[in-house]
Formats: sequence, C-alpha cells, structure tokens
Amino acid sequence: MTKSEQIMELEHHYGAHNYHPLPVVLAKGEGPFVWDVEGKKYFDFLSAYSAVNQGHCHPKIVNALIEQAKTMTLTSRAFYNDCLGPYEKFVTEYFGFDKVLPMNTGAEADETALKLIRKWAYVKKGVAENQAKIIVCNDNFHGRTISIISMSTDPDAYNGFGPYTPGFIKIPYNDIPALEKALDDPTVAGFLVEPIQGEAGVYVPDAGYLKKAYDLCKSKNVLFVADEVQTGIARTGKLLACDHEGVHPDILILGKALSGGVIPVSAVLANDDIMLCIKPGEHGSTFGGNPLAAKVAIAALQVVTDEKLAEKAEYLGNIFREEIRKIDSEMIELVRGKGLLNAIIIKPKNGKEAWDVCLKMAENGLLAKPTHGHIIRFAPPLVITEDQLREAIEIIKKSILAF
Ligand code: PLP
Repeated sequence: MTKSEQIMELEHHYGAHNYHPLPVVLAKGEGPFVWDVEGKKYFDFLSAYSAVNQGHCHPKIVNALIEQAKTMTLTSRAFYNDCLGPYEKFVTEYFGFDKVLPMNTGAEADETALKLIRKWAYVKKGVAENQAKIIVCNDNFHGRTISIISMSTDPDAYNGFGPYTPGFIKIPYNDIPALEKALDDPTVAGFLVEPIQGEAGVYVPDAGYLKKAYDLCKSKNVLFVADEVQTGIARTGKLLACDHEGVHPDILILGKALSGGVIPVSAVLANDDIMLCIKPGEHGSTFGGNPLAAKVAIAALQVVTDEKLAEKAEYLGNIFREEIRKIDSEMIELVRGKGLLNAIIIKPKNGKEAWDVCLKMAENGLLAKPTHGHIIRFAPPLVITEDQLREAIEIIKKSILAF
C-alpha cells in the first residue's frame, strides 16, 4: 500500500463516512498549491470551499496566529480580552456596519442570523410570539445543523433528520414574483439569500435580482439577509457579491475566508437597531471572538486589501471563463460564474462524468470537486498569478479533451 492508501484506509476505518473525498491525501500547502504525501504538487481549485482565498499558509496570517498563540488563545466571553474590541472596530468599519457578533463556523453564523431575524421580528416589527417566518430559496446551502437543513430542499441534506424546525417559506431562487408573493405574509421577518448559490453549482442569478429583492424587502419592512460565507471576501470580484448590485444587506453573514482558512472564524454583522435586539445571555459561543480569531481575521482582511484580491478575482475570472469557453469539447455544456467562483456543467460522454474529469485533472496536477454530480466548481486561491492561472487552464483543457 502507498502512504496515501494507508491514510485513506485509516479515515475509512475510524472516521464517520459523511464525506466522499477525491482519493488524494494532502500534506502541505503554499499559495495556490498543495502537495500530497507522496510529494506530488497540485493547483488547488477548491480552496477549501473558498476559505483559502488568501492562499495556503499566507505568512502574514500564519504569523498573526503564531504570535497571538504564544500570548493568549482563549478567555471565553466571561471576561474581556484585549484583541476582541480592536477586531470588532476593524471588521465593522471594513464592512460598514455598527456591530459584529463573532462566531466560528459558517453554520453557526447562519444560525445566529436566524435567531437575530426572529428576535427583531418580535422586538421591532411586532410579529406575534412564535409566528415569525423567514423566506429562503430552493437549492440553498447554509450548513448542516437541524434548523439549517430544515430550510434545505436537498433530500440528501434533510432526509432522515426530522422533525424539522418550522417557520421557513421556501421559494424558487432568482424569482422576483415568487418573493413578492411570499412577502405578502405580514409575519415574514427576513429573506435569507446567497448572492450566488455556491453549493448548488455556482448558480448566478439574473442581473438586478439582488437589488430588486432588497427593494421589495424594504417596502415590506423585512430584513434582507445575505449569506456571503462562500461568495464574500473578494471571491466574486468585489469584496462582497452584493456589492455587484450596490446592495448593503441588513444582516451580513461571513465565514470561511474571514480567517484565510487558518482557523474557524465567522461573523454576523448588522446595525444597532437589529443587533441590539439580542441581549446578554441570549446567544454566544465559547470560542466565538477568541483572541486568536480576532488577530487572524484582521490579518486575513488586511491581506485582501493589500493584495487587491477582489480586483485580481475580477480580472482573472474573466480570463478563466473566456479561455474555458474556447475548449472544444461536447462535455462542456455551460461555463458560468463571477470573479474566481466558476463552474463547468459537464455533459457525460461514453459513461464518463464530472467525477472522472476530476480524477483526470488530479492526475494532471489540479484539484477540483464535483458538486451535485454533473457540475465542477473552480475556485482557486485568489493569490494565483495570471501565468499560474493560464497553466492551470491548460491542465483543465488537457484533462477534458482526454475523453
Ligand atoms: N453558508 C454558505 C453559503 C456556505 O457555502 C457554507 C459552506 O459551504 C456554509 C454556510 C456553512 O459553513 P460551515 O461549513 O463553515 O459551517
């Protein structure tokens, strides 16, 4: 057995079978590259689902982690720590909100937003107790907790995990008339939406959808809540995907790249009239707002600004889509995306599917993963250079044309 095979066997034997990874065992990462335990080098075109936007092991982020780890790692929120306040000032000014509520994972931040929407409904909007509703979209992905899978329309996500949390109205994505109709219900308090549906297969809504949705929400006194856990922090060519339409959400949910993939750091941002609806003791997390997270997140966001990652994603994304569209293969049904969040819809050929294309790309030195069977998402770290991107495109081309 190779070293990779031995390690995969360990995971298979001792780990829960809740993932189906590509058969590659990674041991090292730097910038847009990762290496497996046998020393083979790959372009990483998943970036840990867009958590590693700043590149693997960015020295400035890692140094922030190491320096703080030597001093203090965790205080809990039972006491103040000297890192959280400065981080809260930094992150709220960075994204333009009055307040932040720090959590760890994306799912926790989404759960936090759900609670905040409900609390706001009762405290501010005057919805009768336990009646608040939240509109969500079909094919959404917001994480894996019970309430979040209760919003899901993907049977793999919810089947066998009931009973479900009530209070959600599910409407088609990218459908303004459906939203308008759902908003007629006066108990609706919030509309939770991904500006681009990442897990669904990088589904980009029509231009103007977010702005129209935002305006409709405003007209009905409903909170517009953007889950930018995957799309945020420069991935789509702007700091936030909502920025493409000049929409400033009432509640913004961030995770993943907020730490550059170094440790779990997530956040919910809102202005005082919303955020202060939650009072001491009503929400929290032992690790949320820890000193390591605070220092790492400041460093991670500083890198995004200093290295102009949003501008890079915009520029390189256009090259990516243009070049991939030139590949002459019946297997490419559609190429779509924004910035460096892109997907190819694969049409199976001779029994070969997206999974086989991913295996072939891995063999040729590039890692990506299918989502929903026939879609491959391409999301390299945003620190990738133009030359590296063009090299990666050649690998993708060679791999697809191999079938
Ligand atoms: N929200 C969105 C839009 C996501 O894409 C994800 C993860 O892919 C999450 C939430 C959940 O984040 P986490 O896996 O950190 O809980």
